[in-house]
Amino acid sequence: MAQRTPFVGGNWKMNLDRERSAALASEVVRMAATYPSVELAIFPPAVYVSAVESAVRGGAATVGGQDCSAEKEGAFTGQVSASMLANMGCSSVLIGHSERRHGLGETDATLSRKLARALEAGLLPVVCVGETLAERESGRAHDVIRTQLHGTLAGQTLNAAKLVIAYEPVWAIGTGRTATPDDAAEAHRTIRQTLADLYDVRFSESVRVIYGGSVNSKNAAELFAREEIDGGLVGGASLVAADFAVIVAAAAAKAKERSN
Ligand code: PEP
Repeated sequence: MAQRTPFVGGNWKMNLDRERSAALASEVVRMAATYPSVELAIFPPAVYVSAVESAVRGGAATVGGQDCSAEKEGAFTGQVSASMLANMGCSSVLIGHSERRHGLGETDATLSRKLARALEAGLLPVVCVGETLAERESGRAHDVIRTQLHGTLAGQTLNAAKLVIAYEPVWAIGTGRTATPDDAAEAHRTIRQTLADLYDVRFSESVRVIYGGSVNSKNAAELFAREEIDGGLVGGASLVAADFAVIVAAAAAKAKERSN
């Protein structure tokens, strides 16, 4: 059985304020102490990274960026570089969340450059891939996933232990509509096969592949019970400490099962 450590990320998107960010981060870090078998990361808005970092410092949760610039530094008003995130205490960064791929039209070529910057800065990249509803309904979901992975990862020097891929079907994000465990597991197998094609089977078997798209306290256990699913990227439900705790507990149950 795979020994991959489950990973759960809480993507706060553009929510909360400084005080509520710090308070929620403190609750998460208290809860995280109960589940040391899960790698836990919080992705607050960039301006609250510092407040969250202070709250989680020394605890069992880490902080990450929701995005980083494709550039290293310079005249890029409004952007935040990967090295700035690292400098502020971030351990990880989301690359290619659908709200950037589809919402802001970021291409695989741009995301590949963002990934390169994240790796240079020593951040763990959480690379998001996933199809739209139209792509799924026209039977192209798996081709889209393969294309996104090739376009974003090809040519990069990657350490499998320091990479997370999030399968996030666009139609499931923030909609309350979740992929069935079977559909999610099938997409995860496609991701792992693509990683094996790009690198090798050993690499592919070591990468954490997590699911995101309306994960909540009711469906997390069923999703995470699938061998293919190594945890979750959680949006809405990560803003409610009690719900997030149930999700992390489901990931911890998976870690326990894997260690048996
Ligand atoms: C996300 O932001 O990555 C996400 C999956 O959001 P939600 O859980 O709200 O669907």
